[in-house]
Amino acid sequence: RHWRSPLEDNTCPLCHAQAREDIDHLFFTCQFSSRVWNYLQIQWLACLSPSECLIAASKSFGQPFFKEVVYLATWNVWLLRNGRIFRNERPTFATWRRNFIHDITLLSHRFKP
Ligand SMILES: [Zn+2]
Repeated sequence: RHWRSPLEDNTCPLCHAQAREDIDHLFFTCQFSSRVWNYLQIQWLACLSPSECLIAASKSFGQPFFKEVVYLATWNVWLLRNGRIFRNERPTFATWRRNFIHDITLLSHRFKP
């Protein structure tokens, strides 16, 4: 939804690498996303399949709620990306972190002790 057509400017809106924006770049190899994963201490290793990558990353993460952390991290990267494209907002790591912490705090109310 709202993915830009190939006829539009499809360079990544989150970094200055002039890289083509695709799912792999936006969520994994982009400098911005790399900083997100470093912050969360989640390592994405080279794998044969996406499911193997998820399993390996989950094991290396070693904390509960891996899926929830990944979903909220990528969701907030997506929102910053949309803010840049549709509202010309400046994406910053500080904004991502503030929004991520807000969302994970709200979600934590559903966690069992
Ligand atoms: Zn990028």
